Amino acid sequence: MQVDDTEDEMLWITSTAFSFTAHLRGTIRRMKNFDPKYNDIPKTEIHIHLEGSIRTQTIIDVAKEYDLDLPAFDVNELDKHVKVYDQMSSLQAVLEAFAIFQNSVTSPDVVERIAWELFEDAARQNIKLFEVRFSPDWAFHGHNLDWDKCLESLLRAKVRAEAEFDMAIGYIAITSRSMGVESCVKTVDWAIRHREHILAVDLADGELLYPASDFVKPILKAKNAGLKVTIHSGEDTPASYVIDTINNFKPDRIGHGIHAIEDMKAIELLIEKDITLEVNPWSNYLTSAVKTIEEHPLKKLFDLGVKVTINSDDPEVLETNLNNEYRIAHEVLGMSMDEIAICNRNAYKASFIREEEKKKVWDKYFH
Ligand SMILES: [Zn+2]
Repeated sequence: MQVDDTEDEMLWITSTAFSFTAHLRGTIRRMKNFDPKYNDIPKTEIHIHLEGSIRTQTIIDVAKEYDLDLPAFDVNELDKHVKVYDQMSSLQAVLEAFAIFQNSVTSPDVVERIAWELFEDAARQNIKLFEVRFSPDWAFHGHNLDWDKCLESLLRAKVRAEAEFDMAIGYIAITSRSMGVESCVKTVDWAIRHREHILAVDLADGELLYPASDFVKPILKAKNAGLKVTIHSGEDTPASYVIDTINNFKPDRIGHGIHAIEDMKAIELLIEKDITLEVNPWSNYLTSAVKTIEEHPLKKLFDLGVKVTINSDDPEVLETNLNNEYRIAHEVLGMSMDEIAICNRNAYKASFIREEEKKKVWDKYFH
């Protein structure tokens, strides 16, 4: 009897401990959020990478269709290879994920499917103004796809989604620092040729390893040709990089820019030049750009008068969505829903989508 009791007690302790751990893990691991409190708000998103937004099931379907190797053909198993759940100590996890993503972009038809599904996922969260960025030289390089054909696919998905979901959608072409100046020149020239459909160029990728000076000329060429410019800067680099970025590139917006918080000179420059920051809280935590999510400077930047916006960066890789970023802004960082609505307005004002197109959705959904 006694033995049984002890056994029962042990079993209870073990199972409780197990379910508590599972609960914690579940909370951390299932960060996508469809809580109506956030889901029902009409939203804007202006910093999201197409390449980091491929559904796991789609990766599996494409691999089967195109006979590609994958570490697993089951969603739960493959998720372990294509999603980052915990704060990264090394870049290895995310590099494996992106290698699989790149290998999944096998044809213009697949590009169309990926874009369409991203729009479906955005519509499900009530995102009404949506700018999506992609790196043609990275995304279409793995299977040597024709950039123009892929753009046609992206435009088909855009037209269909705008009609079906009543959204305003725009595209930004990324040039990655790690792919070198030649790639930057090629991407800028391509974007200029397609400026009717490409709103802006974005200089992305690690700032520490590749000197900005190499990219000034092509980026300014894009600017002079009428394209808008946004630069990934101040993500894992100090405020001085944000200052240099502003002085070198005269960007319209900055991706991340969160480390501007460390130097009032950077803050003043952002305000003086009226530069909007595209902030991605959960991404900054997972990549260790901030040590804890609680110390993310989104609200501090807002309180100082910097125009900040809230975005999800790579929602599939980072297992997040815009609702989750709103939840973090509100519940973890203490922004009021009114302040979050101001972030929406900031994104609308700073959006590169043509005035008449963005105004249409703004007037209809945000008033
Ligand atoms: Zn980004």
